[in-house]
Amino acid sequence: MRVRPTDATPPRPWHTLSAERIQEALECDLAGLDQAQVQQRRERYGENRLAPPRRRSALRRLLLQFHNILLYVMMAAALVTAVLGYWVDTSVLFAAVLINAVIGFIQEGKAESALEAIRGMLSPVATVVRDGKRQQIDASELVPGDLVLLASGDRVPADLRLLTVKELRVEEAALTGESLPVEKAPEVVSLDAPLGDRYGMAYSGTLVVYGQASGVVVGTGADTELGKINRMLGSIGQVTTPLLRQIDRFGRMLAFAILAIGAVTFLLGTFWRGETPAHMFMMVVALVASAIPEGLPAIMTITLALGVQRMAHRHAIIRRLPAVETLGSVTVICSDKTGTLTRNEMTVQRVVCAGQVFDVGGVGYAPEGDISADGQIVDIARHPALALAIRAGVLCNDARMRLDDDGQWQVEGDPTEGALLVLGSKAGHDQDACSAEWPRLDSIPFESQHRFMASSHHDEQGEPWIFVKGAPERLLDMCSQQFGRDGEQPLDADYWRRMATDTAAQGLRLLALACKRAAPAGATLSFDDTSAGFTLLALVGIIDPPRDEAIAAVSDCHQAGIRVKMITGDHADTARAIGAHLAIGVGKPAVTGAELALMDDAALRRVVMEVDVFARANPEHKLRLVQALQENGQVVAMTGDGVNDAPALKRSDVGVAMGLKGTEAAKEAADMVLADDNFATIASAVREGRAVYDNLKKFILFMLPTNGGEALVVIAALLVGLGLPLTPVQVLWINMVTSSTLGLALAFEPAEGGIMQRHPRAPGTALLSGFFVWRVVMVSCLMMIGAFGLYYWELANGTGSESARTMAVNAVVVSEMFYLINSRHIFAPVLNREGFTGNPYVLLAIAACIPLQLAFTYAPPMQNIFGSAGLSGQEWLKVLGAGVLVFVAAELEKWVIRRSGLAARLAGS
Ligand code: ADP
Ligand code: MG
Repeated sequence: MRVRPTDATPPRPWHTLSAERIQEALECDLAGLDQAQVQQRRERYGENRLAPPRRRSALRRLLLQFHNILLYVMMAAALVTAVLGYWVDTSVLFAAVLINAVIGFIQEGKAESALEAIRGMLSPVATVVRDGKRQQIDASELVPGDLVLLASGDRVPADLRLLTVKELRVEEAALTGESLPVEKAPEVVSLDAPLGDRYGMAYSGTLVVYGQASGVVVGTGADTELGKINRMLGSIGQVTTPLLRQIDRFGRMLAFAILAIGAVTFLLGTFWRGETPAHMFMMVVALVASAIPEGLPAIMTITLALGVQRMAHRHAIIRRLPAVETLGSVTVICSDKTGTLTRNEMTVQRVVCAGQVFDVGGVGYAPEGDISADGQIVDIARHPALALAIRAGVLCNDARMRLDDDGQWQVEGDPTEGALLVLGSKAGHDQDACSAEWPRLDSIPFESQHRFMASSHHDEQGEPWIFVKGAPERLLDMCSQQFGRDGEQPLDADYWRRMATDTAAQGLRLLALACKRAAPAGATLSFDDTSAGFTLLALVGIIDPPRDEAIAAVSDCHQAGIRVKMITGDHADTARAIGAHLAIGVGKPAVTGAELALMDDAALRRVVMEVDVFARANPEHKLRLVQALQENGQVVAMTGDGVNDAPALKRSDVGVAMGLKGTEAAKEAADMVLADDNFATIASAVREGRAVYDNLKKFILFMLPTNGGEALVVIAALLVGLGLPLTPVQVLWINMVTSSTLGLALAFEPAEGGIMQRHPRAPGTALLSGFFVWRVVMVSCLMMIGAFGLYYWELANGTGSESARTMAVNAVVVSEMFYLINSRHIFAPVLNREGFTGNPYVLLAIAACIPLQLAFTYAPPMQNIFGSAGLSGQEWLKVLGAGVLVFVAAELEKWVIRRSGLAARLAGS
């Protein structure tokens, strides 16, 4: 945004100003803005949002609807009928073209806005300090002067002048095109430094790939560098998927084939049979109009969009539409453990010191519970190693505890660290008091790759300390001593390993705590300071119970032929114990990341199919696992949250990011985002994905026979040498009015009961399998027999051709109504209560078509346009008979298929 006239100063070269000058200029401080300031600035600077990418204008979208081979054919036919003087046909054809375009336009708009709404759920968040409190807000609410905290994986939410920087590396490709991350530093740089060299700035839209920082917002919305170059993030994706493209191709091929058949028919009819060209032309128009499935693409899109909406209700937000289809064919789900399979409500249960084990009582984050040893409550003061360990856990910690409005304790930050704060409270080591007594000077934040965190402090006497906490294997390498009953003693590594295995085998998550009485060698705490010379204080065992719904969901997946693999940074024994609760990898070994690193690709390909638990794994291991699984022909869904998970998420067939604890980087790489971070949500998304695919299949199986039946009726008349049983305008009436209305109901079809008992659909299987062709041809023939049979019979009995045609049209429509009920299930019977009432939209659609058909038959204006005539009750009975014929035969066919055991085999196709 250009600075508004209210602001007299020109845009400031923020990168040349020191931290103090910035805070002065923007009237802000380290406690952040207060509500009044935020309010005022919101009004002055507006929302922190770029203008949305320009959407195609409505007119353009409407015009594009006509750009369609089918409509070209129909318009050409309309022109020819006009030349021939069939005015009614001309106007009906034009009206049909128009209606088709408008329906397509409305449905496309609906599908787009449904997706738009879902995209809105993924708006980025920012961590700010306001009123002295850290909080998460919608990035669009940021105003200049806001104090923002950055961590690895964040998208920078606005242009920031950095105040403090902790190894911050930012990837600025979105802005500068440079793909290597830039190391940031808060110092000022010269006025003429190019964008890529302004190390004291972090620009909106760039990606934090490492480290942490804080900074002041200096530009929001269009005012940011990104806004200035006007490059838009995340354009609107096309509403299409592989299946839709397949259908599109199929539709086009069908159209050409039909045109070719039409041309041949025309030539044969005029030159061989000696019919008049005008008559033959009308025959061919009828044939073409009847054979082309007009409503197909629009309803397919709607079905997909409805599925996406249903998934959103179940907390699975689809970012890329093709994922809906892929979900239905997933064969392996690789899931994180912590927070996805488990509850992420961590409680310390056990503290192991040299020579003594302590048990900790209490559940959750309430600071109530006793610390005991051998059943006796202990006095912390008499256990210096325990006391120091608990203090280390509180100090070397980036989380905070907060009492929410309902009086519940909540963790802000990492729940693992929250557990240590709660342990501190139980032992009387309050976080605020501890950090006041032993102020923190510097820290190295926790990153999964390193598996530890370090912080440096001064104690009350001003003596320097460094604390580390992290995975025991990591810390044992750093330690040469341990803190025993009588002070420091040489490290007994075997003892600690034994205790670690023992604790992990109970499913507890492990952390070790250690200290060193020293100051960092340099000005800041660095990795060199954490390499050696530490004294091990204690091992902490933390329980993180599995989610109940995850246990059920894993069992659902197993029934559905989907394997579930668990990938975690935790200790192998912890992972196995938790896995056993969830029925993942029971009785099989766990493989660690270190072991994976030693395997070549061929070995990994073998191992990955046998092993279900991968422990001490890094994000790079995830990528290799996905690749190895895919080489085995598996369709893989992979979860992730960190910035380093992005490559594995991109590579997998369905990348799944965590909505709550996931970074922006992970969400952007993913196909689907879990709003609740819950494994069970993946399982329900798979179920929905299968249902959507089913509904698409059902709709095609419903739609095509109508067209096939009509075409056969016309062809039969040609062969027998009768006049047209269905005129072109009547065919258009059936296709555009009744079949679309009826077929849409199938988009609302709920998932079938046994949908999660089937095996995954083999990827890449063509939708139009042999079975499909059979079903379409069979029902087409049934419809033809009913409609043409009635027409032939009536003519033979001397009925007028108008009445006979009206009966043929009604026979097709009534057959469709009956067949719609058949189509609710591809193989399962519908002759039961559920079959008739399971989808109210089906009944509604049929009810809506009845008055339309009555109007078609009896209303004088309609009779004028469509050449229809009123029918008697007896004639209606015959029409009804045609419908019953289709219904009964279709149910019989399903019964035969079920009886022969073919259904199970065909279901996967
Ligand atoms: P996951 O999320 O798969 O459970 P993490 O990468 O978070 O695995 O953790 C791996 C290991 O790193 C844990 O078992 C624990 O020992 C250690 N760890 C986890 N969180 C922290 C933290 N905040 N500080 C220090 N160490 C940690
Ligand atoms: Mg973790």
